[in-house]
Amino acid sequence: MRPHKEGRLFKDRGSEAVEAGGVEESSSAEFAFAPIALPNPAPAAKLRRNKLQDLGERYTAWRAWASTQFASLDLVPDLAQDIGSRRWFRGAGTLLGLSVLALAGWPGFAPVEAAPVMPIDNTVRDEFRSQMIMPLALGADSGRHMAATSVVIPLKNVPERPRLDLEATLAGGDSFGRMLVRSGVGGAEASQIAAMVAGAIPLADLKPGTKIDITLGRRPAAGAARPLEALSFRARFDLQLAVERVGGRLALAPRPIKVDTTPLRIRGTVGPSLYRSARAAGAPANAVQQYLRTLGAEVDFDSAISAGDEFDLVVDYKRAATGEVESGQLLYAGLWRNGKPRKQLLRWGNDGRFYEASGVGESKQGLVVPVPGGMTSGYGMRRHPILGYRRMHAGIDFRAAYGTPIYAVTDGTVQFAGRHGGHGNYVKISHGGGLATGYAHMSRIAVSNGTRVRRGQVIGYVGSTGLSTGPHLHYEMYRNGQTVNPASVSFVTRAQLSGKELASFRARLAELQEVTPGAALGELPPDPTAEEEPVREIDRLDSKKAG
Ligand SMILES: [Zn+2]
Repeated sequence: MRPHKEGRLFKDRGSEAVEAGGVEESSSAEFAFAPIALPNPAPAAKLRRNKLQDLGERYTAWRAWASTQFASLDLVPDLAQDIGSRRWFRGAGTLLGLSVLALAGWPGFAPVEAAPVMPIDNTVRDEFRSQMIMPLALGADSGRHMAATSVVIPLKNVPERPRLDLEATLAGGDSFGRMLVRSGVGGAEASQIAAMVAGAIPLADLKPGTKIDITLGRRPAAGAARPLEALSFRARFDLQLAVERVGGRLALAPRPIKVDTTPLRIRGTVGPSLYRSARAAGAPANAVQQYLRTLGAEVDFDSAISAGDEFDLVVDYKRAATGEVESGQLLYAGLWRNGKPRKQLLRWGNDGRFYEASGVGESKQGLVVPVPGGMTSGYGMRRHPILGYRRMHAGIDFRAAYGTPIYAVTDGTVQFAGRHGGHGNYVKISHGGGLATGYAHMSRIAVSNGTRVRRGQVIGYVGSTGLSTGPHLHYEMYRNGQTVNPASVSFVTRAQLSGKELASFRARLAELQEVTPGAALGELPPDPTAEEEPVREIDRLDSKKAG
């Protein structure tokens, strides 16, 4: 303790003391005694001077000295008095300092660290786990496999379940018989059952993924295959097939399911979102998507549809009496404004095209180019690269790598496919209306004479056959047998129904317009032939007794 500052502090107090007690100010070491009226400091000094060797007395003397020293320290002023005075502030400072000191020594709440009695690593934990008994509900996976001792007697044969219920799935590319054998049915019985089922429905018509409920009975002898007791599956949307053992013989029991084929018609106001309105009205999601795609090819949705318009769509719909629903293709797409049809499209024909109510098919813009690649030589007079003299170039040459697919620019019928002089491998397609296109120098032809081709269909591959200097496509166009500049023609093809076909088309359209919107969403009338299956096991027993 080398207290210059403290010295001053004491001095201050000392000066107070001067005021109070009138004692003269002295040096810092001495003043402390000053305010206290010591009983008699002289005897202590005398004792010291007399050099008393007794330790106890020296201690007593030291204690007395210390107590007088510390008694003079005015550490605990009453803070309720003289508020604001120097003494008061010093007291407050002491209190604060001691409080901070006390708080600094406050213990934390961290757990006291201690090492476990034995270290537990994974091996030890597994050992503990194998010794404990886990509840069955948690899988009871504890315990340990031990080697068999002499007390273990192996069973001759394990008792088997008398009945086995299982579900088999017909996989893609699977055969019905093979699926049965895989499920445990004997080979001979499996082929017998497959033949029985084939009598009711061609086995190839069974959809992959069909689930088959199979019940197998007790083995007649050890090692023999279990006999089939019963088998049941949904063979078709409208047919449930069952094979049952009746009196020891297998019998097929087809159970037709009543199916209602009323097409589903949904009609409603477009509102803020056509999709959401149609979904809210009960249209299946894929039907709405088909509707949007079909109508979108004909109408610009952004400009042509307003919130007040009415959408009208009809989809193929099947409802089975057992509750299943199958929604198929979009049959009709209509858009109405103020009670008048703005657009009416009906699916017609085998290729599933849509036709307008007037019988005009959807319009199809021809492709601009039959191969992806730049044009290297245009239509017109030019110096022939091989023949060396000027002659008419009757088409357009496209740069393309060897083997690049060539697409038909629009729908048509192949008029010629094969070797054609300087054209090499050549395909000519007639598009009707006196228009035809030719594709030359192919490495390979992918169509044959008379084939009907669709726009964008691959008809061959780029090559360099015939009079050609390298792989490229020579593309030409004919109008009434004469070549024309392909760049000058853009085609739009439209199919048009006429005569008898148009009449039946109109009849079909009228028929679909008769369907009540939402009729197919209602409840099916109950099937009178269907039996109520008891749900509870006890009811099943009762009904067996009764029957
Ligand atoms: Zn050419």
